[in-house]
Amino acid sequence: MSSSFKTTCCYCGVGCGVIVHKERNGSLRVEGDKDHPVNKGLLCSKGMNLHYTVMNTTDRLLYPEMRYSKTMQRQRVSWNVALQRTAAVFKTFIQKYGPDSVAFYASGQCLTEEYYVVNKLIKGFIGSNNIDTNSRLCMSSAVTAYKMSLGDDSVPVCYDDIELADCLFVAGANPAWCHPIIWRRVEAARASNPDLKIIVSDPRNTQTCAYANVHLQLKPGTDVVLHHAIGRLLLEEGAIDIHFIKNHTEGFERYKQKVMQRTVAEAAAICDVPEEKLREAAGYIARSKGFITMWTMGLNQSVIGVNKNLSLINLNLITGHIGKPGSGPFSLTGQPNAMGGREVGGMATMLSAHRNLASEADRTFMQQFWGGTTINSNPGLTATEMFDALNDGRLKAIWIMGSNPLVSLPDVHKVEAGLKRAKFVVVQEVSNKPETLQYADVVLPAAAWAEKEGTMTNAERRITYLYKMVDAPGEALPDAEIICRFAKAMGYHGFDYNSFAEIYDEHCRATKGTNIDISGLSYEILKDARSIQYPYKENGKETPRLFTNKQFYTPSKKAIIHAVDDENESEPTTADLPLILTTGRIRDQWHTMTKTGKVSKLKKHIAQSFLEIHPDDAAERGIAENDLVEISNNRGQVRVKAKLTPDIKSGVVFLPMHWGKILNSDLNRANNLTNNLLDSKSKQPDFKYAAVAVKLYNKK
Ligand code: SF4
Repeated sequence: MSSSFKTTCCYCGVGCGVIVHKERNGSLRVEGDKDHPVNKGLLCSKGMNLHYTVMNTTDRLLYPEMRYSKTMQRQRVSWNVALQRTAAVFKTFIQKYGPDSVAFYASGQCLTEEYYVVNKLIKGFIGSNNIDTNSRLCMSSAVTAYKMSLGDDSVPVCYDDIELADCLFVAGANPAWCHPIIWRRVEAARASNPDLKIIVSDPRNTQTCAYANVHLQLKPGTDVVLHHAIGRLLLEEGAIDIHFIKNHTEGFERYKQKVMQRTVAEAAAICDVPEEKLREAAGYIARSKGFITMWTMGLNQSVIGVNKNLSLINLNLITGHIGKPGSGPFSLTGQPNAMGGREVGGMATMLSAHRNLASEADRTFMQQFWGGTTINSNPGLTATEMFDALNDGRLKAIWIMGSNPLVSLPDVHKVEAGLKRAKFVVVQEVSNKPETLQYADVVLPAAAWAEKEGTMTNAERRITYLYKMVDAPGEALPDAEIICRFAKAMGYHGFDYNSFAEIYDEHCRATKGTNIDISGLSYEILKDARSIQYPYKENGKETPRLFTNKQFYTPSKKAIIHAVDDENESEPTTADLPLILTTGRIRDQWHTMTKTGKVSKLKKHIAQSFLEIHPDDAAERGIAENDLVEISNNRGQVRVKAKLTPDIKSGVVFLPMHWGKILNSDLNRANNLTNNLLDSKSKQPDFKYAAVAVKLYNKK
């Protein structure tokens, strides 16, 4: 008999509802869920092909594998042997070198329950904060900025606000390709409201810009200058909300002084954007009744990512466009459950339920809640710092869970060197493709989407329950079960859950009294309601929009307007490395292609990596369309075909971030070239700015 399940797409943070039909022969088919409030039946190209991610088992890890020394080949072993051996190695390192000698590197693809137990394990029982995830690469600058400006990591708006706004400022994002269903909603909003104004800031003329009333094609790294110039124009035009500023914010006078330091003409010259376009953008904001700022990696993935975020959020604060319909700052998330990871505090700098790692009271609360060891007050190693610590020997063992750092991390040769030097590497993974497997001492096969139950939270704080629909192949297990089995092998109590619902209930209880209180939530409620936007307290009310009472999460209950520096601290270009490399996504691929790479339909859009280069920069180097070019700097090389387009700013080149090694060649891998510079506050790497040289390698 065929059956159907309602669940959520596991690709991106939009969080679209899908209906999965399981046919009599066991095959799966997906369609968009017309009743789901996020996508109303729509799916993008990736979502429409979701079922292929679990149907093809030829590239799946099926059994645990292990080796006793680096010179041995891994052998298939039982779960018990793999986990007992891993526990013995971890215990030895912890005893000899301390708890900070081990680390977990997880993923924004993990379900909330998985995030919860691994975070509990290392912080609450091992006694280290060395857990970070690839979400560090995606949104940690937004998290830090929200905390600094609003008092907690809190996305104030919901998707329904898009339809209520009359001005959208899309900064450093290409949602038309990377968050397609959100963009379909923007397109629909524009169709029903021709007065909706769209401002886009991006060094590239992307598909999103096709809908822009004004495209601010700025020079990379000048976003803060641009935001300040718009702030100044709003001040000069009197288009600020004095009542809101006076009653609900702090820091305005310092901000005012800061933005008045540069004239609009000076700012326009620094950003390389025509002054009249800045004035046009400011005019749209000034005249709007509902104003949303929307951003992703162009702001976050920067050495000044937090400053870029704060200076954009300031535009909402000075105009009072927050906490009301159709208004507010809105950071989009890349990973499907980056928000769930934020809820459980599953990162090196966070504690569960948005509690503060630096607060003794919060640490004591969680220690007593978990009944484990004293929680370390020092932040742990963040994503790139873990691999630095493997390189210098501080870290002995790393457990990589559902992530592919040999493609996704910056300066990837350094990452590879770290994995080579690691004393012990555990890889917990669905696919048998990731490059990390070659360095694994222990391989643990994990269940994929649709093969396990759990919850995820999308970019608008909407939590959904995901059903298990099919059994995992071979001996693959849900990630939460793997971690709990390992914790028990370590001898820790508190991991004897009878169900995933019990894990979730414990997480919900941990949030009680916090800003993300979901103490009223359970699997039963989620299954019944389909999805809930948090906070969701015991009174059973969900919260589509935050700060409607203008009370923020800061001690004074006022939002903070930060007067941030506007200097770009990225790697400078030189005479030898004169071009700025920026990296990003293409429409039909997802991250490192471990899932989308096996769907032939998705390869039809763009089959190979490429370098986007301005025709003037190409002509200077004798490069024509489709010539093979070499992009290089002191960290590595990439060789791909050139795509000449006036859509990229002269002086800037673009590489997609998806491709890793192909036939043992790593010359498609953009992160050979990116640098390890981090934002000092968020520790997010600077993927959007690396100095490179480009030369002709072979004529086509
Ligand atoms: Fe899935 Fe994101 Fe596409 Fe929606 S927009 S179908 S969540 S990939």
